[in-house]
Parts: sequence; C-alpha cells; structure tokens
Amino acid sequence: MNEFQEYYYSHPYARELDTFVLSCHACKEGYEIVLKDTIFYPEGGGQPCDKGTIQGITVLDVQRKEDKIVHILKQPLPLGEKVHCVINWEHRYDLMQNHTGEHIFSGLVKKLYGYSNVGFHMGEYICADFQGELTEEMIQEVERRVNHAIWANLSVNEIFCTPSETGKYEYRSKIEIAGITRIVSIDGYDMCACCGMHVSHTGEIGVCKVINFEKTGNKTRVFLLSGRKAFDYLNHIQQENSKISKLLSANPLEISSAVSDLGQRYLDLQKSYRQLSTEIMLKDAKQIPMYDAILYTALLADYEAMRVFCNQCIKKGISTVMVIAKNEIGYAYVIMSENVDLQSIRAEFNTRIHAKGGGNGEMMQGSCTATPTEISGAFTTLTGATMHIVS
Ligand SMILES: [Zn+2]
Repeated sequence: MNEFQEYYYSHPYARELDTFVLSCHACKEGYEIVLKDTIFYPEGGGQPCDKGTIQGITVLDVQRKEDKIVHILKQPLPLGEKVHCVINWEHRYDLMQNHTGEHIFSGLVKKLYGYSNVGFHMGEYICADFQGELTEEMIQEVERRVNHAIWANLSVNEIFCTPSETGKYEYRSKIEIAGITRIVSIDGYDMCACCGMHVSHTGEIGVCKVINFEKTGNKTRVFLLSGRKAFDYLNHIQQENSKISKLLSANPLEISSAVSDLGQRYLDLQKSYRQLSTEIMLKDAKQIPMYDAILYTALLADYEAMRVFCNQCIKKGISTVMVIAKNEIGYAYVIMSENVDLQSIRAEFNTRIHAKGGGNGEMMQGSCTATPTEISGAFTTLTGATMHIVS
C-alpha cells in the first residue's frame, strides 16, 4: 500500500540524500537493498523508476514491494551504514515535466470531449490512450489549451484523502484505491489520482507538443512530448528542416511546396527517361543480329517496355528473347518464346533464381535477387537454349 511517506514525495526536488541501509539481500540481478528513506521513485503508475547511484554504485532498478521500496544494485551495501544517494536529475525532471504535461492533456480531453485516458506509458514518447475517436483538429485544440495552461504557470497541488473523503472531489482515476488517495490537482484543468512525480508549477513544463496520433478501433493513441524532450525533438526537426531548405534554396516556412515541386520534377524526368529508354530499346531491337535465343540488358526495369522489346524481336524471327534490367530488388526479367512452353518451366525457373513472377505459355516475367548470369544459366539448364548476349 502506498502511504506517500517517502522522501521523494515530501521533497520532489531533492537530488541527493544521506540515509541508512536497513536491509541487503542477494537476488537474481544482484542485491535488493532497502534504505531508511529514499529519493528514488519506484516504477509505477505509468512512470519509470529513477536512475542514479548509491555510494557511487549504479542503481539498476527500483520497485515497490508491499510497503517497501527495493533498490537493485550489482554490489552489496553494508547493513546499518550511512550511504549517499544521488538521482539522475535530468532523467527525473524529464519525467516530471512529461507527467504533468500528460495530466493537463488528459484532463482537457476529458473536459472537452468526455473521453477517459485508459492507458498511459512513458517511454521514448508519452503514449496516452483515449476511449474515443479524436480528430486532428480536436487534438490541436487540446494542445493549444495545454500550452496556455503551461504559460499561465499554475501551481500543481497534491490532495491526500482517505476512502471516506474521496467523495468530496471529482477526479479522474483508473483504479479503485483502498488506502490513501493522492489527487494531483491543476486548478481549472485537471484532478487525477496519481502516485507519480510532478513539477510544482505548470510553467516548468515549458512546452507540450503532440508528436503523432493513431486510431486503434474506437480508441485514439496520442504521442506527446513536454519540457526538454519536446525542445530537443523540435530542435532536431528544425535542424533537419534547415538542411532541406538549404538543399532546395527554399524558405524554411514554405518547405512543403518546394518538396512538392521537386517531386513533380522527378516524376516528369522519370517519364522522359522512360520514353527515351523505350526508344533506345526499340532502336536496338531493329539492329540486333538474328540468333535463335538472345539475352538483352535494358536500361530501365519497365515491364511494358521490356515486353514491347521482346515482341519486336519475336516479330523479327528470334525464337527466344530474355530481357533483364536492374530494379530496386535486384533484377527484373521478361522472357518470350515461340518454341519453349514457358508455362511448363516457370515454377522451377523462379524457384532456381528465387524470383517472384507470373506469365503464360509464351511470356513470363518476374523479379529476383539473382545475378544476370544466374538468371540466364537457370534458363539454359531448363531448356537447353544457348543465350547470345546482345548488349
Ligand atoms: Zn499521473
């Protein structure tokens, strides 16, 4: 049961503490250590545990076991001795900024749209699951209001109440609490039962940014960042945007239209390249010497152009035509033949060159990771045809 007597509740901004070792027992991961008091928050309520050291030894994990806070260390600590504890403040303060930011966000979603927060996880991003469908506009409105609450620098208060007193308050809660309930209250925005760590004033959050959201069934998962983590994320985005704007010689605030123009130019060029490659292939088809079977390497992996080339060669009187061209997987191939029943060899051929493809008795095509030599070799083995390389 959590009675909220630990040092980190009464001193949420304490970074160091001298205390005594009450117990030290060997466990699977090393040693389980219980201290007289602690500044280490144990994992719980969606918030990860604190990081840091005790007597210079790294704390691997912190868990609540019944009414005790257990610290896991690789090395033992002397029973009854005074030890010096230091928490990783940057890590803790990130969690405080992000936890309070999430409370305001979830409180506003409940207030504006009536959807409860039904899941909460603090990892690389803060994930909050809401029992309802939130649109982009709804999320933007919540985000705007969260930042107003941050700039108003409201105080974040704790209310401790016994089961008989909880009825006095209207607050968000995921579970029934048997003992003392700690309600974290931000006037006008949120009241929520919580055992996690929070900043004392909303201004300390700095900024809250929605990074992404996704719908899963009738729920919406929102990915959030607040405080330093939000700043670092936005800074990263800004640096990337700056690089792109320099590469495109475009105004950073109008980067999407510059990228869209570039995309269109690429499509136009691709079209021209395709036309040109097809023209070259058709010109080559006219000049190719007469063999019974040929292997031609095309400039562009375009199945339609490759089939047109094969047709031209077959019309000329070449019995078997194989065209290959480099693609994003490895090689694309098209084979046409007048005297080989391609349907009968297709499955075996594709298996030998690890290809995926289709076709009929006269034509087959596909894509594979095999080399041109392996592709023509597999065909020769199955049909006995001698492939003459013509490009
Ligand atoms: Zn909370």
